[in-house]
Amino acid sequence: MPAAAGSSFDADNLPYGVFVQESSPSTPPRLGVRIGSHVVDVAGLATSSYDGDARPLTAGGLAPLMAAGPGVWGTVRSWLQQLLTDPAAEAVVVPHLVPLSEVTMRLPFEVADYVDFYASLDHASNVGRILRPDGEPLMPNWRHLPVGYHGRAGTVVVSGADVRRPCGQRKPPEAEVPVFGPSTRLDVEAELGFVVGVPSTPGSPVGTAAFGSHVFGVVGVNDWSARDIQAWEYVPLGPFLGKSFATSVSAWVTPLAALAGARTHLPGQDPQPLDYLRVDEPAGYDIAVEVELNGEVVSRPPYASMYWSPAQMLAHLTVNGASLRTGDLFASGTISGPDPSQRGSLLELSWGGREPFHAGGRERTFLEDGDEVVLRYSAPGALGRIALGEVRGRILPADLAGHHR
Ligand code: CA
Repeated sequence: MPAAAGSSFDADNLPYGVFVQESSPSTPPRLGVRIGSHVVDVAGLATSSYDGDARPLTAGGLAPLMAAGPGVWGTVRSWLQQLLTDPAAEAVVVPHLVPLSEVTMRLPFEVADYVDFYASLDHASNVGRILRPDGEPLMPNWRHLPVGYHGRAGTVVVSGADVRRPCGQRKPPEAEVPVFGPSTRLDVEAELGFVVGVPSTPGSPVGTAAFGSHVFGVVGVNDWSARDIQAWEYVPLGPFLGKSFATSVSAWVTPLAALAGARTHLPGQDPQPLDYLRVDEPAGYDIAVEVELNGEVVSRPPYASMYWSPAQMLAHLTVNGASLRTGDLFASGTISGPDPSQRGSLLELSWGGREPFHAGGRERTFLEDGDEVVLRYSAPGALGRIALGEVRGRILPADLAGHHR
C-alpha cells in the first residue's frame, strides 16, 4: 500500500531525494519522495495529477522545490499526503512507485556554502578536557555565540560513497618536526545538517524567527575528521585540511514539517544570549542518533541535548549581513550527550586514543581501513517514530601512489 502505515517512512515523513533508476542509468536524475520501501517518482506523478505549477517538481533535482518557499513546500506535502493515504488514489500513484532496491540515490542538492558549528556543550567540553586537560574546557566565547567555521562545499558526498583516508602533515607529540603521511587518527563526527531553500538579501540578517522561512529541511551529516592533521594545522585559523577531504550527508532531506512533533525545549542557556540570538521555544529537536561501527552501535547521541538551536546558528551565520543561497548547508557540530555512551566522535569515545573502547570484540580507538560507519536518526512523528536518512561510508586505504613531486 502506498501509505506505508507502520513504517518509519510513512506518509507523515516523506523525505525528498534525487534518484536514477538502475535500469535506465542514462536518464537524468529525478526528484523522488520516500514512502516505505519505495520511491515516488514525483515528476511523473506531478505531470499526471498536480493541479498547481508543477515546474519545481519536474525540473530534475530538489533545488527548484527548495527555492520555492514554505507556501509551495506545504502545498506539495499536502498533495503527496492526500494521494498516498487515499485508497481511491492508488491507481494514480502505483505507476509512479519504484522499489528502493532499483534506484541509486544521488547527492540531493548541489551544496552552495557549507558551514559547520560546534553547538554541543558536552562535545565542546569533552574536546576541551581531552586537548587542554589543565585549562578551562570551554573558550570564553562559547556560551555567547554558536562557534562555527566555513567548510568545503565541493567535497560533500552522498551516503554510500567511500571515503579515502587522507594524507597530510602532522606532528606526533614526541617528534621534533612534522612528518607527512596517512592520517593515523581518522574519526567520525555524528551531526545534523540544515538545508537552506530560500535565499536572503545581501546585507540583511535572517533573524531567529525567520528560520522556517528559509530552511527547507534536515540531513544527517558525518563530518569525517583527521585529528592528527587537525591538531597540527588548526592554530590560529581553525579547521582546514583535517576536515575538508570529505563530508557525508544522507541521501534523504527530511522536510521541517515532518519534524513538527520533534520540537523540544533547549536544555537552557546561561548567560542569556544577546538579543539577536534570542529564540522562541521550543527551539530544539528531539532526534535520536545512533553511531554504528561495522554493524555494531557504539554510541547513541541525543540531539535534544544540543545547547544552541539551529535558528540561532542561522541568525549568527547571517548577523553580519552574509546572504544565503539555495543549497547552503549548515551542520550542528558533533552531537554528544552527557553520558559516555552518548559521545558522537571516536576522539571522545576513546578519550583522545588513551582509553580504547570495545567494538567488534576488541579494543578500538580511531578508524581503520575497511571500517564502515553508519549514522542513523529517528524522531517522534505524528503517529509513530519516523526515520531520517542514514549516512553510510566506508574507509578506503590512503592513496600513497598519488604523492610525488
Ligand atoms: Ca564537525
